[in-house]
Amino acid sequence: MSAKKTTEKKSAEASSAKSAASAKSKDPQEQIYQRIFSYMDLDMNGLVSVEEIHNTLAARGYTPDNQRVREFCEKLKGLKKDKIDLPTFKEIARNHIILLEKALSGGLVIPDFQKFTEQLETMFAEAAKNDGGQVADYIPQLAKVPPESFALSVCTVDGQRWSIGESGEFFSIQSTSKPFSYCIALEAHGRDKVHKHVGREPSGQRFNEIVLNRNGNPHNPMINAGAIVTSSLVRPELPPAERFDFFIGVIQKLCGETGEPVFNNAVYLSEKETADRNYALAYFMRENKSFPKNFELQETMDFYMQCCSVEMSSEMMATAAATLAFAGICPTTGERVFSSGAVKDCLSMMSSCGMYDYSGEFAFRVGMPAKSGVGGCVIIVVPNLLGMCIWSPPLDEYGNSVRGVQICQELVNTYNFHTYDSLIKTSSKKTDPRMRQTSSQAQNIWTMIWAASQGDLDEIRRLEALGVDINEGDYDGRTPLHLAVAEGQAAAVQHFVSRGAHVDVKDRWGETPMQEAKRQKRDDIIKTLSGGKKSGG
Ligand code: GLN
Repeated sequence: MSAKKTTEKKSAEASSAKSAASAKSKDPQEQIYQRIFSYMDLDMNGLVSVEEIHNTLAARGYTPDNQRVREFCEKLKGLKKDKIDLPTFKEIARNHIILLEKALSGGLVIPDFQKFTEQLETMFAEAAKNDGGQVADYIPQLAKVPPESFALSVCTVDGQRWSIGESGEFFSIQSTSKPFSYCIALEAHGRDKVHKHVGREPSGQRFNEIVLNRNGNPHNPMINAGAIVTSSLVRPELPPAERFDFFIGVIQKLCGETGEPVFNNAVYLSEKETADRNYALAYFMRENKSFPKNFELQETMDFYMQCCSVEMSSEMMATAAATLAFAGICPTTGERVFSSGAVKDCLSMMSSCGMYDYSGEFAFRVGMPAKSGVGGCVIIVVPNLLGMCIWSPPLDEYGNSVRGVQICQELVNTYNFHTYDSLIKTSSKKTDPRMRQTSSQAQNIWTMIWAASQGDLDEIRRLEALGVDINEGDYDGRTPLHLAVAEGQAAAVQHFVSRGAHVDVKDRWGETPMQEAKRQKRDDIIKTLSGGKKSGG
């Protein structure tokens, strides 16, 4: 075939594809697919390159390894094509359309994620010039970490992720384990019981100072003494091995599928070898009756030091911080790890006590809940927006990462992330990367119904975790189950039925999901529904 003929053939194919894409459908759902498709159809020829889809998603914080888009990207890869047309796009996007629509229509919590990460990159480069501080050496293994190690990672509550530097390297989490042990203790015993043993005030002293408050308790759960006490409240009834497995299991849930936390035995042994100060604290607290009854000192100390010896990467830590930002739900898996009440208490504690004896100054200047560890990690939480982790081992005189603190400061110079920035809207030069959120319950219900019609189980589970009632209907009384049945989404129907959705609920026209299924002659769905729950029962 001549070159000319080939070109002719190509353009004929393209124009027929184009007419397919541009024939605007009257169906509003169809229009959404068309809109998303044409957004990426840069040449307007009815074909979208797979590379363009990847670039579009990456710019919004979703690389193919991101759990929120992994399945979609795998389907895309499975096509083994460079370009796809609208019907193919529809086919593979079907169960993921809500996230795609949100991403492309500016509906994610940080709509211009690329701009945001470009600014982070500048802050990172600026901080990299700062070579102040000393790597902690009172735990010998920590002194071996290369001081130039540097990473920054961010994860939003929509699961948008981005990292720079050595973000896959594992480091010792040290005191950044403290907020997590505190949350676990709160979940198990409630606030009153936990705070019978530990206070809620900054100590104003170093993180390992031998000092207790007026009640003979440690000042707060974010310093060594307080964390030793909260550790004593974490599943003490379990044998030591299971107790640690339980802890690391919770950490795993916090960081979703971004990696697996590991235990560094060398750090643990090194820490144990040089733990005189922590033992002194524990004996002092035992003398002062700070601990709960029947606690076992040696086991508690071992467990505390094991928690400090867990290793994670900055990518994982940012996701764990984002779980706190999302009130206890991991943004990558949609799993609830902590109750929102426990997270609220933990963030309050991090705000006032997370940065040791620099906490007051940090709260004044930066105004975000944060926690640091002597391994050089700092986590920051912007509630309802994001979690961030900076890892750079050299520490300042307070024991906080020098570059970590610098980036926190730079963040609030640039963005209105300080808790009280909301008060100075007009005069401030700071920007807000957030989407203007009108995310009311009504909107969530509407999204749930739409997710049901598209069979988007990922979104359905996320909305459930946010507390959306699956039996709630729209203004026509159509529930998520009605829509899942109407669109023949068998897996979604199965899911709703297993979650106790009412199968006999009537919409405005008096129709139940079962009648709808019979009309559609979907025997498989009828069968699923017949095992379902009635509204009265
Ligand atoms: N494991 C360290 C200790 O107990 C934790 C201290 C820290 O990170 N500030 O001293």
